[in-house]
Amino acid sequence: MVSNKIAVVGAGVVGASIAFHLSTYGMNVTVFDKGSPGSGATGHSFAWLNAFGKLPRHYFDLNHRAMDLWTRFNETLGADVGLKWGGNVTYYSDEEKGRKLLEQCERLQTWGYPIRSITREELSQLEPNLNIGPFYAGIHTLTEGHVIPTKVAEACLAKVKNNGGEIYPDTLVKSIIENPREIILSTHKGEFKFDKVIIAAGVDSTGLATNLGIKLPQRVSPGVVTRTASLPPIMKTLSTIYLPPGPGDEGEIHIRQATDGSLMCGAGDQENENEDDSQEYADSLLTRAARYFPSLDGVKAQKVPVGLRPMPEDGLPVIGFSNNSNRIYITLMHSGVTLAPIVGSLGALEIATESSVDSLKPYRPTRFQ
Ligand SMILES: Cc1cc2nc3c(=O)[nH]c(=O)nc-3n(C[C@H](O)[C@H](O)[C@H](O)COP(=O)(O)OP(=O)(O)OC[C@H]3O[C@@H](n4cnc5c(N)ncnc54)[C@H](O)[C@@H]3O)c2cc1C
Repeated sequence: MVSNKIAVVGAGVVGASIAFHLSTYGMNVTVFDKGSPGSGATGHSFAWLNAFGKLPRHYFDLNHRAMDLWTRFNETLGADVGLKWGGNVTYYSDEEKGRKLLEQCERLQTWGYPIRSITREELSQLEPNLNIGPFYAGIHTLTEGHVIPTKVAEACLAKVKNNGGEIYPDTLVKSIIENPREIILSTHKGEFKFDKVIIAAGVDSTGLATNLGIKLPQRVSPGVVTRTASLPPIMKTLSTIYLPPGPGDEGEIHIRQATDGSLMCGAGDQENENEDDSQEYADSLLTRAARYFPSLDGVKAQKVPVGLRPMPEDGLPVIGFSNNSNRIYITLMHSGVTLAPIVGSLGALEIATESSVDSLKPYRPTRFQ
């Protein structure tokens, strides 16, 4: 018989999604978080829903499939989680970078990704407030979007509660002990016993897994995304935009405006590592952004502390049961916002039915043992 008393350690967007999906199978779910839902990487995320730079092919396919699931996930949650579609534009003034971008565009077209090259005039129509500057080549991905991931985590947990589950915020899981009859979670609020446990504790998952004899190597991947208070609509159509480096700049910047009007801005690509969470750095990002969107001139940047991406050593997600037990399930990944609906639904399917989903096979934690 499938056992059904299940704990999820970590209420980020991934842990919350898996808890929600498990609750739809009638599982008895309890969620623990040492802080509040979304207070880990989820609360620091740029939350761009995309499969754009994802390699190898199976990882691209997983992300692409996750993007398609987002609409249904959003409807099922029945809450405002700030989902906005509109696509992304990336463009370059530099000829070599522009050519590479167009090559990437052609490859993604053969993979069935809705993407096309875009002219300067078309970009100007999409974003009339954008001061485009020098333009060599650009691409438009049509089906990308973004969300407010903390709201997603909260909406999932509200559903878990509605389905009879329990949520323990501000509850640090100090240790997980597995014995033949049960799995014991030790917290400062006491001990809890379960049949199965999902470790979805982001960067802290490695420590919890190590104590169970499970290898879960991660590399440190800090990132900083600056925010603003709510602003009138600046971006008219696109959900995100990657802007080329200006004179003297180190690299590109990316911008999105959330449905609550707040703007987020980060530097480099999706995995750019940066620990500078000073006010000066936040201001400098907005100054760069204001060259492209002049109405940002004089807008105050909100300093956001550095966030740590959950980042398995080989860069690919970890999803699945640990090697020596079908009672400890691990989810650890970057791009967890994009992947939340698919990891939640397929992970819950595996846990609730004790089945093995083919498309998750490249991501098993056993690859590190
Ligand atoms: C700067 C930055 C930009 C990003 N941009 C994107 C993007 O554009 N698109 C995208 O898809 N992804 C992006 N990501 C990655 C994405 O945010 C993460 O992959 C995702 O949030 C991971 O969610 P999670 O639930 O696995 O982990 P987390 O959100 O880290 O949640 C883990 C939770 O576990 C809790 N916890 C830890 N230890 C314990 C314990 N012992 N007991 C109880 N609770 C515990 C923590 O409090 C935390 O709430 C970005 C991340 C960063 C940092």
